Amino acid sequence: MDQRNFDIIIAGGGLSGLTLALECARRPFFQGKKVLLIDRDNKEKNDRTWCFWATDDEILPPVIFKTWNNCRFFGKNIEIPMRLKPFRYHMVRGIDFYNWAKVELSKHAHIQRITTNITSIDDASTVYTDQGEYKGTWVFNSALTTQPLLPDSSALYPNPPLSLQNAKSPENGYTWLLQHFRGWIIKTPEPAFDPEVVTFMDYRPDQNGETRFVYVLPFSENRAMVEFTVFSAALCSPETYDAELKQYIRQHLNIQTYKVEEEEFGVIPMTDYPLQAHKNGPVIQIGTVGGFVKASSGYAFKRTQRKTRAFVDAWEKTGAPDPSVLRSPKAFRIFDSIMLRVLGDGLLPGHIFFSSLFQKLETPLVFRFLDEDATFVETLRLLNAPPALPFLKAAFRQMKKLFYV
Ligand SMILES: Cc1cc2nc3c(=O)[nH]c(=O)nc-3n(C[C@H](O)[C@H](O)[C@H](O)COP(=O)(O)OP(=O)(O)OC[C@H]3O[C@@H](n4cnc5c(N)ncnc54)[C@H](O)[C@@H]3O)c2cc1C
Repeated sequence: MDQRNFDIIIAGGGLSGLTLALECARRPFFQGKKVLLIDRDNKEKNDRTWCFWATDDEILPPVIFKTWNNCRFFGKNIEIPMRLKPFRYHMVRGIDFYNWAKVELSKHAHIQRITTNITSIDDASTVYTDQGEYKGTWVFNSALTTQPLLPDSSALYPNPPLSLQNAKSPENGYTWLLQHFRGWIIKTPEPAFDPEVVTFMDYRPDQNGETRFVYVLPFSENRAMVEFTVFSAALCSPETYDAELKQYIRQHLNIQTYKVEEEEFGVIPMTDYPLQAHKNGPVIQIGTVGGFVKASSGYAFKRTQRKTRAFVDAWEKTGAPDPSVLRSPKAFRIFDSIMLRVLGDGLLPGHIFFSSLFQKLETPLVFRFLDEDATFVETLRLLNAPPALPFLKAAFRQMKKLFYV
């Protein structure tokens, strides 16, 4: 096999690309195969933090930065303690994950990493880069998208993580929302946080006709990450995120003096557009581009671990990668689609929806539902918790598209 031919090319070495590369590194099945991982970025910055819930028997990367056993939820006029057991809430810092993955991959000679910009990928699995062309038997793409999933670069958002190739207009009938957020890690001179309790969602800030909440991840009594989050069709002005954070810290955390140590800004697409359906023979979409983000929640970290493992297990068994293994069950895709339509059309304010879930149901049931592990009976209980009318309206409006999500 010549220098530029590979069995597997992984285009994009963020969360999903690295997760797949790590599976190719550690499994005997891939030992004779040549794998190339390409990213334009060296991944030397802490560009994000990932939070997720998990039970103790789930397999997690050994780079957990902090774990919490307790969370709470604030609706407009209500505080709900969330009993997580058997789940716990974890946080992984991007930089810890990248550094760990790089060290692990460097132990395996069949995995090669290069840093260069990918300009395009064709249907015959040739990857075109600033350093020339590479040909793969299989190409796994998490770097380029044909769908405008994220906003264009701007002063607020200078480096969108995905590159557009042959951009298409968003298709009508699907919901295209953004989950956008700005977070500050703040340090206070006096003890101000309970380091054992995460504020999972706080809906007390003004909703402005959208779904807006803050979450608080305390690292110690003096340090916490406070993040203002919006579900809406367009980004806010930079001043809005800052003003909301300042007001929340003053009004709800009762903190007057603090220092902002680090900032995070992020945008996650929330859409029911069937991203995974767009596969071209040997080119398989993974990560955000491949529909790994849970459309109704924006969570993707644990889903990426689980989907990748299931996909590679199946590949080992059958000898060929099967992208259909990466798809969520249809029933959950339909629920996500209806839920997005409810939010997108403003049929039910997000704070009422989430308050009804956490008020009426045990948290582990909600988590299992979002993990797509809920039993039939649990699913019925969950569907019964929020007011029914907005969901019936949304299902009616969405009827035709539900076949295609
Ligand atoms: C700030 C932030 C915080 C998040 N927090 C959470 C969270 O708490 N919990 C959760 O479950 N999910 C979270 N998410 C959602 C999701 O888990 C992440 O977006 C995740 O990183 C998606 O993985 P990915 O592999 O699809 O994309 P990325 O991790 O973004 O990887 C894509 C890679 O492609 C590379 N690339 C792009 N274009 C090119 C090109 N032209 N050439 C070469 N390389 C290219 C990029 O450099 C990048 O490394 C968060 C997302 C963001 C942005």
